[in-house]
Amino acid sequence: MGVRSNFTCNKCGNIFAATIGNLRGAYEVRCMDCDEHYYSEIEIVEAICKKCGGKMGNKITSPMCPKCKSRDNVQNDTLIYLD
Ligand SMILES: [Zn+2]
Ligand SMILES: [Zn+2]
Repeated sequence: MGVRSNFTCNKCGNIFAATIGNLRGAYEVRCMDCDEHYYSEIEIVEAICKKCGGKMGNKITSPMCPKCKSRDNVQNDTLIYLD
């Protein structure tokens, strides 16, 4: 289930908004290096990021902090379900 929420970075304390997760009938494909993401109707296990050339995949479960690039974060209470 896809959500849009605020996250607090455990590393630098930055609070940022991000979307994460699959939608109904659409898989999220996310870049491991720059956190660029898109939705695909078919499951894509691996792809190349158009933005940075990095590896994209569908197994990433937490967003990247835009400040320090850590994926160590906690989801805050405020969230919107996207589907
Ligand atoms: Zn990328
Ligand atoms: Zn951070």
